[in-house]
Amino acid sequence: MTDITNPFEAMQNRLKQAADIYKLEDNLFKVFMAPARSMIVSLPVQMDSGKWEVFTGYRVHHNTARGPAKGGIRYDLHVNLDEVKALAAWMTWKCAVVDVPFGGGKGGILCDPRTMSAGELERLTRRYISEIMDILGPDRDVPAPDVGTNPQTMAWIMDTYSMHVRHAEKGIVTGKPLSLGGSKGRLEATGRGILIVAREAMRKMNRVLEGSTAVIQGFGNVGSQAARLMCEAGIKIIAVSDVNGAIENKKGINIPALLKYVESNKGSIVGFKECDPIDPQEMLTLETDILVPAAIENQITEVNASKIRAKVIVEGANGPTTPAADAILQDKNILVVPDILANSGGVTVSYFEWVQNRQGFYWREREVNERLTEYMVHAFESVTATQEKYKTNPRIAAYILALDRVTEAMHDRGFYA
Ligand code: NAD
Repeated sequence: MTDITNPFEAMQNRLKQAADIYKLEDNLFKVFMAPARSMIVSLPVQMDSGKWEVFTGYRVHHNTARGPAKGGIRYDLHVNLDEVKALAAWMTWKCAVVDVPFGGGKGGILCDPRTMSAGELERLTRRYISEIMDILGPDRDVPAPDVGTNPQTMAWIMDTYSMHVRHAEKGIVTGKPLSLGGSKGRLEATGRGILIVAREAMRKMNRVLEGSTAVIQGFGNVGSQAARLMCEAGIKIIAVSDVNGAIENKKGINIPALLKYVESNKGSIVGFKECDPIDPQEMLTLETDILVPAAIENQITEVNASKIRAKVIVEGANGPTTPAADAILQDKNILVVPDILANSGGVTVSYFEWVQNRQGFYWREREVNERLTEYMVHAFESVTATQEKYKTNPRIAAYILALDRVTEAMHDRGFYA
């Protein structure tokens, strides 16, 4: 099989496999193979130098049968329409797998946020939101953070949208700061979800989580919070990486100290004491119980899949594994908890945030975490049951579960032509 590295084609490939097993009707298959709406905008922004740059922004809705589009906004140098289309479709399936009442959306701007000032990023964000306003709204499309964006970005989004509609609209975006109606537990929600499904996966393999080892690729919002919570749960983190490099300590990295170091080291893990630098690619193939890719797409491919020595892969990132790698990992009996299940803790607590904004009543952190655990354990069990019913791997089972739920909503709504 030739490997597929275009993320949208990789999504379509898995959708086709799932549709064949599920015997999805052809009409709906055609609908799911394309996004419902793709918007491309040009964003003139005055840079600090006084010159103008024109950035390209995207917002895609894949399917909104089950509710408003939901999905993050990515600021990165690799952003392109096919990537955003893939990420939007994965949101459709993810929201259905974890059973929150949203459809799938995603957005992005082709830019390098690491080289831009706070002022430039604020102007870019406000211009982007005002350009895509017509398709946003608490009942239409609710963005959230993704690679290169954070609670501050979400605050600018909430403010820009609110200024246009002439009232404070908290439910327009999730992942906001607590001062603007953010939810307790949202910042670490994706990382916490990873820990929850890692525990379920280890249990499924009759292994104990406490005392196991983990390797984590990516040390941003998802990777660093997963590392912190896994470490607190008694897992030994033996290696981590970010875009700048990778570090290893077989005895276990001191994660609280690393988190402090990263804050004072311009966000980078490189140079942290008591660790040896290692090749980031080699890091992925270290012997470990759990491997968490939590960075970007296409990290486990036909080139390195056969060298992976983890027992369980928990996909913190979206699309870290290619279709050709899926087959190799399955042959090696490596249990893969797929992205549309493994990283759904983020959208689950985003849903809780949206509910709290609409209720105007805010929950305690313990309540958020308990409900998150319930949703994720239930989703894990539902995927396992689907896997057993259809005799397939967890990824295709998760797609089948999602297809079943989205198909039901499509049928119940009927076609408006
Ligand atoms: P982030 O921008 O906070 O962090 C990304 C991290 O990946 C950084 O540490 C960066 O240095 C690192 N990185 C980038 N390229 C790399 C490479 N080639 N090798 C190693 N590390 C690399 O982004 P994030 O929010 O943590 O998102 C990470 C992944 O998780 C993405 O795939 C995103 O779509 C997915 N995700 C995020 C959320 C969320 O709530 N933020 C929810 C679900 C899924």
